[in-house]
Amino acid sequence: MARPRVYKTEAIVLKRTNLGEADTIITFYTPNLGKIRAIAKGVRRPKSKLGGHLDLLTQSSLLLAQGQNLDIVTQSQTIESFLPLRSDLWRTSCAIYLLELVDQFTAEQVENYPVYRLLQTTLLRLCEAQSNELVLRYFELQLLSHLGYQPELYQCLNCRAPLAPGRNLFSVSGGGVICPNCAKKEQFIRPISVDAIKVMRFLLKNDLSSASRLKTSPDLSHELEQLMREYVRYLLEREVKSVGFLDRLRGELTSQNEC
Ligand SMILES: [Zn+2]
Repeated sequence: MARPRVYKTEAIVLKRTNLGEADTIITFYTPNLGKIRAIAKGVRRPKSKLGGHLDLLTQSSLLLAQGQNLDIVTQSQTIESFLPLRSDLWRTSCAIYLLELVDQFTAEQVENYPVYRLLQTTLLRLCEAQSNELVLRYFELQLLSHLGYQPELYQCLNCRAPLAPGRNLFSVSGGGVICPNCAKKEQFIRPISVDAIKVMRFLLKNDLSSASRLKTSPDLSHELEQLMREYVRYLLEREVKSVGFLDRLRGELTSQNEC
């Protein structure tokens, strides 16, 4: 749909790239325009009226004007700054991971309102003290589902037989579970436990509140994390940058707890 010369939208800041002395190219995710990029002129000057309303991890109300190449942000007003995410390194890293996933999985100007809602509600959930890593798994699965990559978790990808408890495998290239009989012919597979299948089904069927109340053992959390990481890496054909930082932080936090 052609955009009018001047238009309003709310948006979440996904990424910022400095341009010249004081300008910044900002990647936003919006409810009705999907991902857009626009230029914020002079935003890095101390007295800029835009400053602060366009920081990473901010939900803002924007007024934009069509430009020759990129549109231009002419006004911005913060709606939500997700403050608790900024005061805790672990939460900041989780939130940046979500932003990176949305940026990497979406094309510009393809509307996907469920993805916008998912990002907004998950960022709010991460602000809550009791949020845990399953919130990230919920986000990954729901995001993939909204983008057409929901994994098959009920029947074998190959022979379509309903999955039985036991030694099943997950195929990242096929996007789902393979029964032991069919596993021999497949590449890019890894074992998946019955509990991991159950948790993934639960995360896809339930809302975020239910998901964040779920408790899993450290081993199961690790299995789910590795499995989703491999699936995401396969789909994107690259590693998500912030994953390495999350790993290092997790290592540091674990060693602190052990002291
Ligand atoms: Zn099979």
